[in-house]
Amino acid sequence: MTSLNYTTHSVDSIVKSCLDISDPHLHFFNEPYDEKINGISYKVFQATINFLPHELTNFRCFNCGFTTFYRNGYTPKRLIRIPAVNATHQTTIQARSARIRCRNCNSTISAKTTLLPPNCQISYSLRDKIATKLRHDISAKTIAYEEGVSASTVNRMLSHTRSEFRNNFNFLPLHLCFDEFRGTHNSYHFICLDSDNHVIQTILPNRFKDTIIKYFMKFPESVRQLVRTVSCDLNSYYVDIAKTLFPNAKIIIDRFHIVQMLNRALNSMRTDLMNNFERSSKNYKLFKRNWKLFLKRYDDLDCTHQFYERSLKIWTTSERLVNSRLEVGDQAFNEAYWDYQHLLEIIVAPTKNKIDIFKQRINEVHQKYLIKRTLATKSEKVLLSFFDNLDAIISALDPMYSRYTNGPLEGINRKIKQIQRTAYGYRNFDHLKARIYLQTYLGKDTRSSMKIA
Ligand SMILES: [Zn+2]
Repeated sequence: MTSLNYTTHSVDSIVKSCLDISDPHLHFFNEPYDEKINGISYKVFQATINFLPHELTNFRCFNCGFTTFYRNGYTPKRLIRIPAVNATHQTTIQARSARIRCRNCNSTISAKTTLLPPNCQISYSLRDKIATKLRHDISAKTIAYEEGVSASTVNRMLSHTRSEFRNNFNFLPLHLCFDEFRGTHNSYHFICLDSDNHVIQTILPNRFKDTIIKYFMKFPESVRQLVRTVSCDLNSYYVDIAKTLFPNAKIIIDRFHIVQMLNRALNSMRTDLMNNFERSSKNYKLFKRNWKLFLKRYDDLDCTHQFYERSLKIWTTSERLVNSRLEVGDQAFNEAYWDYQHLLEIIVAPTKNKIDIFKQRINEVHQKYLIKRTLATKSEKVLLSFFDNLDAIISALDPMYSRYTNGPLEGINRKIKQIQRTAYGYRNFDHLKARIYLQTYLGKDTRSSMKIA
């Protein structure tokens, strides 16, 4: 820039157009120069901040109300930080403000620029740049380094963004989902999402019942009554909380979580069965090696493609192999296998009939262990826990509610993990929360959620 041939009167307009500044108070009078301030290389633009003519004609002393004044030179130089104009230097404006003095009470008033808030050093444009960067997956330290400010300045900007988050207590989404994630100090935080557009409704510092109820009690009852569904995991106590808070809502247990529970039970029963055999036996090997086949949907098992099974020394297919294992397995394992298969069928193609049969099976198991539940097998224990939340389970399997799962939360949880990894963890919950909001809002139209209720 220094190589440009400036004429005195055009410096101001050239610098202003380069720096994208339109404030008429500012007047650049010199070409920029490079200087090292506190160990940082700066490109320094010199300017004065003047009063505009109408400010002087309408002058009224803030102290005594008199309108007469005289000019009183300039204030000392100060730095205004603006976004960097090139890659190697930070950019700053070194400015002096014109000063006038009241003739009556002697108080002084200096000219103000609209570039930055009063008593600050960092301009609005640099603040905006930092705020934009906070929406990306970069650590606060990196942002501070790149923008030539301190890390605490960046964190202060982060705290300022808090006021912009959703804070409307006259509105709740129709469909909510509840979950938790591990955050600051290795503790769990509660998170609630709008199931429709995946916007975060709230993040609470902990997952205690009192905290959750206190938060939702801020919403009037009429608003809470409008909530239609709440989806959550089965093994949490969110079911009870949701029932008390949202009287008209249907509680939906996450369907993938339901499958996972039976899946784990079946897998654990398979290993129990396997361990009954000698380690060197064919049966042990077959149960161990083909663990994946048992968890697969029966209809998806390959019945045409043959492969050579070494331990049996025969050519076989996946389907035949599973059938032969089921013959070896005991009745409990067989029952667990077919219960699991039935559930998979419901997930793939739900019909009222299938759901009714499943419901009947859960009831049967309940009747069977009416007196002593501890006798139930692992898989049956899962079915018994389904019985305790039968309504929630059945509505989760209902195709009408199939779109309400905790799936979106898994995505958000993945993102939260990434946010914490980038920063090497957070100590301050508010900072973590603000960062999660900023990074998950990225590219999302939050207004669409307002249309719902
Ligand atoms: Zn005065």
